[in-house]
Amino acid sequence: MLLRHTPTEIKERNALTVNPAKTCQPIGAMYAALGVHGCLPHSHGSQGCYAYHRSALTRHFKEPVVAATSAFTEGASVFGGQANLVQAIDNIFTVYNPDAIAVHTTCLSETIGDDVPQIVAKARADGKIPEGKFVFHANTPSYVGSHVTGFASMTKAMVDYFAESNGHKEKTVNLIPGYVEPADMAEIRRIAESMGIPTIMFPDTSKVLNGPLTGKYKMFPEGGVTVAELKKSGSSIGTVALGRTSSLPAARALDAKCKVPCEILELPVGLHGTDAFVDTLRRMGGVSVPEALNLERGQLVDVISDWHQYLYGKRVAVVGDPDQVLALTRFLVSLDMRPVHIVTGSPAGKKYEKRLREAVAGLPEEVNIKVPGDMLLFHQWIKNDPVDLIVGNTYAKYIAKDEDIPLVRYGFPIYDRMGHSYFSSMGYRGAMRLMEKLLDAILDRKDREATDISMELVM
Ligand code: SF4
Repeated sequence: MLLRHTPTEIKERNALTVNPAKTCQPIGAMYAALGVHGCLPHSHGSQGCYAYHRSALTRHFKEPVVAATSAFTEGASVFGGQANLVQAIDNIFTVYNPDAIAVHTTCLSETIGDDVPQIVAKARADGKIPEGKFVFHANTPSYVGSHVTGFASMTKAMVDYFAESNGHKEKTVNLIPGYVEPADMAEIRRIAESMGIPTIMFPDTSKVLNGPLTGKYKMFPEGGVTVAELKKSGSSIGTVALGRTSSLPAARALDAKCKVPCEILELPVGLHGTDAFVDTLRRMGGVSVPEALNLERGQLVDVISDWHQYLYGKRVAVVGDPDQVLALTRFLVSLDMRPVHIVTGSPAGKKYEKRLREAVAGLPEEVNIKVPGDMLLFHQWIKNDPVDLIVGNTYAKYIAKDEDIPLVRYGFPIYDRMGHSYFSSMGYRGAMRLMEKLLDAILDRKDREATDISMELVM
C-alpha cells in the first residue's frame, strides 16, 4: 500500500501539483531530435538535467540514448552559458561528427536568458560549425508546458530551420506523427506507403530507438528523417499532422512558411481515428484505399463484434498525455466502454477539454475530467468511485496495486514492460493489439474471480 495516505476527501487545489502526470520539456525535445538522422541532441544546461532526460528515455526505450550537455557549473550559471555552448559545438563536431546538433534549453539557461541563436551565430562566425553541418534549437523551459510541449517545439524547429519551397509542388505528403512510439511512427508510414503515397515523416524515431542488436555500436543509427528531406518538406502537396498538442505548431509553421496546406487530425487510434487518417491520406494523395488496408479494417470490425460483449459497460480510468488520452477515449467510447475518470498531465487548453467532454457526452453517467490534473486527484477519484480498468503509464501501477484494479500500460513513460516500442497501437492492426491488451486485463480478472461453477473454458 505505497499510496495508502491518499485521502478520499478531495480538496480544491490550484497552486499545488502532487505526483504530476507529466515530465519536463527537454525530454520531449530530446526525443524529437533523435528522430532526425545523424542528429545529436544537446542539452544547454547543467549535467543533472541532461542525465535525467537521457535516463528517462533510456528506461522507456531500453536503448542507449545519445546526447551532449553544456555542463554548466557555477560560473556559467552566473555569467551565462555562451562559452560552454560554443566549446561544446566545437567538441561535438570534432569528436562525434554528427550531421546536426539539436540544442534545447533547460530551466537554468532559460532563467539566465541565454540567447541560443546568437550563440550559434557566434559559433558559426568562429568557424566551429563545419560546412554542410547544422545546428538548430528549441526553447524548452520546464517551468511551463511539459515533455509534449518540448516535443512540439523541437518538431517546429525542424520546420523553422530547414523547410524550404523549391517553387513547385511534389507529390509527397508530410506526416507529423506526434509524440508516439517508434513502432507507431513506422505503422503510420506503412499505412501511407501501402496507399502508394510518397512521404516525408518528421520526426521519425523508428529504427533509432527500436533498432536491432547487431553486436556493433552505431552512434547514429540508420533511421530518422534526413536534413535533406526536411528541406524538401516545404515542397510537399500537403501535411497530415497527428495530435494537436504535439504536431499542430510544426504543421502551421510549415503552412505559413512554405504554403503547404495542413490537416490536423487526432492520433489514428481505433477504428474511427484510423478511418479519418486513411480518408485524409486518400483525398490528399488522390489515391484509392488498397484492398490490403480494407482487409485490416474488416478484421478489426470482426474483432470488435466478436469481443464487444466483454468490453460493454466496463468503467475505465484514463491518465496520460492529451493527444493519447483524447484518441483513446474516443476508441473506448466506440467500444461501448465508459471512461469515467480522465486526467491529462500536460496542459492542453480549453478547446481540447471541450473536445474531450464532447467525446464522452453520450455516456449514461457523470464523467470526471481534469486538464491538466495530477495522479493524486486521479487516485482520489478512483478511491471514491472504483473502476474495472485503469489505462495509463507505469506510474499508475501504484494506484492499480493499492486499489486492486487491472492496469493496461499505455503512453509515456512505460518503464516496466516491453513491447510498446516494437508493436504499434495505431492503425487498424494497432487497434487490434490495443483491444487484445484491454481484453487480456479484463478476462484475466474475470477468470481470477470466477467460482469453480462459473469458470468458463471458452470465452
Ligand atoms: S531543472 Fe528543469 S529542465 Fe532540468 S530536470 Fe528539472 S525541470 Fe527538467
